[in-house]
Amino acid sequence: MTRLAMLFDASKCIGCKSCQVACKQWWGLPASETTQAGSYENPADLEPNTWARVTFHEYETDNGFQWLFLAWGCVHCTQAACVDVCPTGALKHNALGFVSLEREACNGCGYCSQACPFKVPRMETINLLTGAARASKCTFCQDRATNGLTPACVKTCPPGALEWGERDALLEKAHARVEWLRNRGYTQAQVYGETQLGGLGRLFVLTAPPEAYGLPANPQYSSLITGWQQIVQPLGYVAVAATTLGLAFNWLATRRARLSNLEAVEPDATDESEA
Ligand code: SF4
Ligand code: SF4
Repeated sequence: MTRLAMLFDASKCIGCKSCQVACKQWWGLPASETTQAGSYENPADLEPNTWARVTFHEYETDNGFQWLFLAWGCVHCTQAACVDVCPTGALKHNALGFVSLEREACNGCGYCSQACPFKVPRMETINLLTGAARASKCTFCQDRATNGLTPACVKTCPPGALEWGERDALLEKAHARVEWLRNRGYTQAQVYGETQLGGLGRLFVLTAPPEAYGLPANPQYSSLITGWQQIVQPLGYVAVAATTLGLAFNWLATRRARLSNLEAVEPDATDESEA
């Protein structure tokens, strides 16, 4: 199946946050109360109720100061640590190319939020008494995407800084745009997301190095996750199997004891009825 993707072109973004609002509107996510912290960036980070966020970065160049904007959220990694550590399968690779999340299947363990190299998933407490939680993150509007619709943020972006389509075609477009920008003096223009973590589902045209946007140049798939998959998870399965076997033996032993008790009392019962 053709892989779909999102392209964010930072050279077109005007920092209006329409994408952020469209995401909240489509998913019915409430606003958070925030305070002015010296920046138009708001809220200060991704939240359980904020899955898409526009980040603002001040960047000094030889030609003076620049504002850099980034439409941020889950980047839908090919080598997705969140998918690999999720014990319930709530996080999955969708055949269309994005990482889906079924919140009903999430047990609130929080492994995904720890493993994600971009620190994207947020845990929402859904029961204050029990502490039960659910993960939340951008899913590229999985309900819309799987029905042939464009994600809400892309649909709303006024200058067309966000695009949705076949990944290969978007990559070609991104490289052409970078060349166009370089020819116009943006010498640091580059594509981000083509190769990182096996290739991201969210591609970026940047006008400055990734670090200037708060992006890691070379995000890493932690070796702890490999250890988790190869050692801890199998041990977990062994523990579950051992517990199940133990319960089965316990049930058999109890049943056997009960049957022998019955056999032991039967003659007396016969005697009493005969009397
Ligand atoms: S950015 Fe994080 S949450 Fe999104 S797919 Fe990658 S590992 Fe998973
Ligand atoms: S809607 Fe488009 S222009 Fe506005 S902040 Fe989002 S990406 Fe940038």
